Amino acid sequence: MQIADIKSDIDHELVSKEQIESKIEEVAEQVSKDYQGKSLLLVAVLKGAVNTLTAFSQALSIPVEMDFMSLSSYGLGTKSTGTITIRQDLSTDITGRDVLIVEDIVDSGNTLQWLVGDLKRRGAASVEVFALLEKPSRREVEVDVKYRGYDIPDEFVVGFGLDFGEKYRNLDSIAVLKPEVYQGEQA
Ligand code: 5GP
Ligand code: MG
Ligand code: MG
Repeated sequence: MQIADIKSDIDHELVSKEQIESKIEEVAEQVSKDYQGKSLLLVAVLKGAVNTLTAFSQALSIPVEMDFMSLSSYGLGTKSTGTITIRQDLSTDITGRDVLIVEDIVDSGNTLQWLVGDLKRRGAASVEVFALLEKPSRREVEVDVKYRGYDIPDEFVVGFGLDFGEKYRNLDSIAVLKPEVYQGEQA
């Protein structure tokens, strides 16, 4: 019996495991300096940002708190719906807190713009953003991403938390799948 390999579904890789790790370490060093002596709360957007949050939090040299939110902007496919709703909210009162949103990818920017506004309205002392990936050519709205990872072209990517039809989140790099994989499922 042949065992299917996740890597055999990849068409091309955009960001390697090593590149992800070194960028996360670089950003974590800067964030550890910037929030020295402060009580930082990391907020990750489920599910895509979980892998980034895990690697990033472990690379920080300061103790931090973590919390999660689940938002819906994308369904199972590859197109943004434009409307954002909270599926699962934070369990932390963020009034007066220094918050750093950890995001997997900024595409149109709609999700992030909405989230930054929402956390500020709750009375956070500061709200900054770390995004591992950005697609600059797809940006529709202004969002200030203070801590930036890699810019990627306008291609639908999977891996390191990012899914296609809920799969491929466990890939350790950022990649584009073979066309037949995307065609095989309902987008
Ligand atoms: P935005 O609101 O910026 O358009 O998109 C936000 C969310 O859409 C991201 O946090 C991510 O969950 C999803 N998304 C955007 N681009 C991609 C992509 O290329 N691949 C995957 N898997 N998800 C994406
Ligand atoms: Mg996300
Ligand atoms: Mg998704």
